[in-house]
Amino acid sequence: MQLDAEAAFFFSMIVTATQAQNDEKSVLIIGGGIAGLAAASKLGEAGFSVVVLEARNRIGGRILTQHDSSSDAAIEFGAEFIHGIAPEIWEPLQQYGAEVTEVEGESWCVTDKKLSPCKFFAQVDAMLDKMNDSQPDESFLTFLQRRFPNPNRDPELEEARQHAIGYVTGFNAADPGLVGTHWLAQGIRAEEKIEGQRAFRSKNGYEDLLNAFRKRIARRGVKVRTNTVVERVGWRRGRAEVMGHNGDDRVVLTASQVLVTLPLALLKAAPGQLGVVEFVPHLPKEKVESLEKLEMGQVVRVVLRFRHRFWETISPPNDQSKSLSNMSFLFTQDESFPTWWTTMPRKPPIITGWAPFRSAERLAALGRSSIVKKSLRTLANVLELNLKGLESWLEEACFHDWQNDPFSRGAYSYGKVDADGAQQSLSAPVENTLFFAGEATDTSGHNGTVHGAIASGYRAAEEMIYARST
Ligand SMILES: Cc1cc2nc3c(=O)[nH]c(=O)nc-3n(C[C@H](O)[C@H](O)[C@H](O)COP(=O)(O)OP(=O)(O)OC[C@H]3O[C@@H](n4cnc5c(N)ncnc54)[C@H](O)[C@@H]3O)c2cc1C
Repeated sequence: MQLDAEAAFFFSMIVTATQAQNDEKSVLIIGGGIAGLAAASKLGEAGFSVVVLEARNRIGGRILTQHDSSSDAAIEFGAEFIHGIAPEIWEPLQQYGAEVTEVEGESWCVTDKKLSPCKFFAQVDAMLDKMNDSQPDESFLTFLQRRFPNPNRDPELEEARQHAIGYVTGFNAADPGLVGTHWLAQGIRAEEKIEGQRAFRSKNGYEDLLNAFRKRIARRGVKVRTNTVVERVGWRRGRAEVMGHNGDDRVVLTASQVLVTLPLALLKAAPGQLGVVEFVPHLPKEKVESLEKLEMGQVVRVVLRFRHRFWETISPPNDQSKSLSNMSFLFTQDESFPTWWTTMPRKPPIITGWAPFRSAERLAALGRSSIVKKSLRTLANVLELNLKGLESWLEEACFHDWQNDPFSRGAYSYGKVDADGAQQSLSAPVENTLFFAGEATDTSGHNGTVHGAIASGYRAAEEMIYARST
């Protein structure tokens, strides 16, 4: 009886299979985030027949833009900043004709409840410069203790140390006790090459980049199947069978090459949970070991739209000639939302709260409305405003829970101590049949970014094209 049930199940899968792909030049891509789309465009251009399988009802993954109904400003739930002048982003945006603007404005700090222009950047840069990836690897916290101990608790040094930790947790969403200085130093070097200290936004947000890739893949005949959750990849050299479901329909597709672009946290998670893919046989030992060396950072961001830009009239207590009217960033010591930013140089009444690492872990346990309330309380507290007044000016709060989203399970990846080579090992093709892309597999030092994800997609596509030609 057991056998009959299994046979019936198997038969039902075959008959309801959406499509069987047997063409030699057919490839399947699991994941329609920017890495998958970049790979699809390159493979399409090379004459491959490409099908992208995407679990959500939309493409873009951790890129998700909405448009504010009153100001038409782009509201980002995931990626927002274009870091530097990476060609992977600029080339498609320029071809698409997008209007890109550099982030401008002043950075303000609230330290010990005192508001003042930030002065910590040079000191933090000097600290970070001391990380050396030709010496043994260590965690960022160990490095800080070893290189910048503060036995006498000098307040200035302590403040710089806290800002340095704030950079690592805020920018990299990383646990400073786990993240390796090698990974950080390599990332900083890579960013310097693309002027990564400069930041830009496209007029319609990252949606412009998605549209640029949408156009490219449509021109190249790439098929995208949304609402298609992959559950299992059975593989042997030269052939892979991808199984999943689209609503109630079973999906079974075969191809001689499959590109996996799943977020790191899904690759690390145990099968049997929504979104997690089981590989049969298991992925090779080296790949599983590389997963252990990488971690998924946590971030909660809340975008608040108010009736007006109330911060424009706020001045530091000792200098009424200045105000926050050109504020771009606000760095605080708040435990929940330490960092805030506006949309400068554009001036809609929108401000974003950023809660990385431990703050994100704490907030992720709360529901949406508690998170929004907490963000308002923080803002009222750090800017010494009346909470009730602030609440009454709020028109909209936007939030996406990336931690509890089964198809991301976190924000973006980082390398732990002794992670050297982990990205290379994670990205390596298996038997010229399984290929790997996604921000965590980028080998050029740009993990955790959109340009890193695109670079990984291009790299994987080239590997697939090369494998076919040999
Ligand atoms: C809050 C936040 C802010 C960020 N800010 C920035 C920023 O300012 N600048 C920057 O450069 N980067 C930023 N990033 C990082 C950037 O968004 C990512 O590095 C990049 O988008 C990752 O692209 P990807 O294609 O590798 O992964 P993803 O976009 O996650 O794509 C993977 C795709 O796989 C799909 N999938 C998952 N499971 C399955 C399954 N079982 N079957 C089928 N499909 C599946 C997912 O739905 C997803 O679409 C931010 C990220 C977050 C979360």
